[in-house]
Amino acid sequence: MDTKEFLPPERTRVENDLFNFHCHSGVSCYLSCCRNVDMLLFPYDIILLKQQLNIASSQFLQQFVSICEGSHPFFPGLKLKMNADEGQPCPFLGDKGCTVYVNRPSACRTYPLERGIEHLGPGRGLRVHYFLTHHPYCKGHGEQRRYSIRQWERDQKLHDCNYYNDLWGELDAFFASNPWAGEGKAGPYQQLAFMVCYNVDTFRDYVETHGILNQFQLRKDERQRIARDDGSLLQFGFRWLEFILGGHKKLFKK
Ligand code: SF4
Ligand code: SF4
Repeated sequence: MDTKEFLPPERTRVENDLFNFHCHSGVSCYLSCCRNVDMLLFPYDIILLKQQLNIASSQFLQQFVSICEGSHPFFPGLKLKMNADEGQPCPFLGDKGCTVYVNRPSACRTYPLERGIEHLGPGRGLRVHYFLTHHPYCKGHGEQRRYSIRQWERDQKLHDCNYYNDLWGELDAFFASNPWAGEGKAGPYQQLAFMVCYNVDTFRDYVETHGILNQFQLRKDERQRIARDDGSLLQFGFRWLEFILGGHKKLFKK
């Protein structure tokens, strides 16, 4: 496939080649890029950040997030709100660097790469594309360390993020088919989907109150994982949304 047609400016496609990069406190641009960033947050990013901050997902949404256009007109995206101070720093930027580094969002981990997901059509899965950004202010490109994409993924501990972002990408592609049964934006089903995707603690309460897990055939270990782990609950929620909205049935009623 010719990817030139959707290649944004200041980016080159990366496949098996190595790239130079090292971001550290010795570069002259250190901490300059964590300001005035247009950063989309994906559902798993919200889980990582609210866990890092030890707050409920609803509080995280209220305090740190604004709603923006998603990748298509049928479901909104979320953006991290920058602080209003001079230079609009990221709310998690401290004097010595990122204060949420261990649980930083996937876009921050992935940089200087960007990861794009191509949907190959119903039941045909996804194809992943990587692009290397070339922002002139970023001096990390001039450093000696060299990485392949796989090495960068390992170094930045991207596997869980990529796993959940791919699940999200598949669900979002389903949302792009406008499965809201004519209710339009912010109808009851879309509000339910917003809660499942972005507000995991409220979804956990909903699942318990409505006995949702008891309605489906789930293995015992699966139930236990969902009970203790937000990522597993998110994954169940994605399958549940497809079930109730009439997509591929990956859940079975008892
Ligand atoms: S989350 Fe951390 S790495 Fe990402 S923009 Fe904010 S301060 Fe920078
Ligand atoms: S601009 Fe590049 S090298 Fe500089 S701090 Fe940001 S990521 Fe690191």
